Amino acid sequence: METEWIWLLLGLPIAFILGWLASRLDWRQMRIVQRSAPRAYFQGLTYLLNEQQDQAIDVFVQAVQSDPDTVELHFALGSLFRRRGEYDRAVRVHQHLLARADLSGLDRARAQWELAQDFMKAGLLDRAEASLQQLEGTSLESQAQTALLYIYERTHDWPQALALTSRMTGEAAQAHGAGKQMHYLCEQANDAMRQQDFERATSLLDQARACDSSGVRPGIEQVRLLLAQGQYRQAVQWALALSEQLPQTMPLLAGMWGDRVFETLQGDQALLQQVHTALRVHYENESSLDVLLALVAIEHQMGLPRAGHWYAEHIRKHPSLVAAAHWMELEQQQDAAIAKSLDKAMQPLLNYRCLHCGFEARSYFWQCPGCQSWESFPTKRVEELQA
Ligand SMILES: [Zn+2]
Repeated sequence: METEWIWLLLGLPIAFILGWLASRLDWRQMRIVQRSAPRAYFQGLTYLLNEQQDQAIDVFVQAVQSDPDTVELHFALGSLFRRRGEYDRAVRVHQHLLARADLSGLDRARAQWELAQDFMKAGLLDRAEASLQQLEGTSLESQAQTALLYIYERTHDWPQALALTSRMTGEAAQAHGAGKQMHYLCEQANDAMRQQDFERATSLLDQARACDSSGVRPGIEQVRLLLAQGQYRQAVQWALALSEQLPQTMPLLAGMWGDRVFETLQGDQALLQQVHTALRVHYENESSLDVLLALVAIEHQMGLPRAGHWYAEHIRKHPSLVAAAHWMELEQQQDAAIAKSLDKAMQPLLNYRCLHCGFEARSYFWQCPGCQSWESFPTKRVEELQA
């Protein structure tokens, strides 16, 4: 009886110690297992930090093969392939992930987003579009919509861009609101003008005005539409009203009037006089190059003496090769070779330049073809920006 008690007294602490040891052993074993799993991550990370992408990819590929369930490693590998320009391999990794039935909703959306990025980088915009559309209703819907809008703008699919911004909600709707919709409608109106469908262009410009009443573009496009239809008198009257209301539109409007427009106004001296006054008042307030050129052209048409004095006055205020070249041409102060040289030197100074990326073009763009920014072109020419 006594021996049993001794065993019992000794047995309890021994059992306790054995249990504690066993638990320690399990815990240490678990730590070993946990340590071995992310080892590939650390190894891959070390290679990445040392900019050894090839070695990092080898480690990740090996880890993915030995443990195909590791979702994060798939993402890391896919992203590495894409960064190296191996888009087909990146696509395969992300498609492999999407084919898995056990993937969580969030990881499925992430894989779909990554797949869309692969297609975007590879320039396969139609496939990127299809991938992004799959993200509707997921937590990544908002960023997918922004990426989709980028694709529609890049491909000039203005009706789709307009429809998408109408569906947007929250922050995305604020970022791509009425201002952009106005531009999408104006772009469609321009397409209609090119196809000589003036009725449709008129209707689209009406919608653009209703969409963003503070936007300056619909008014300018209306002048372009009237000029395209040969309705020069109405175009000039519209432009006069617009420039009075929004003086900042005058340089663009003045650039649209040419000798042909002024020629057709010959019979209407009162209107010519009105345009002349508007141009002169604007030029005296803000000496824009486009307004200067239009001012000389209209004075020439009106038969006013010494129209070229405006060039001389401009050069006195701002050193200007454009004005100097025009003045010399008008006064016939040079031979043909000098005229050709001056014209060549002057041409790049007549470009417009994007304030965001520095892209230059002879035509005015509402959306920069270089960086896709809207309204990033000032209405001043390169020479005026340098002044
Ligand atoms: Zn740009």
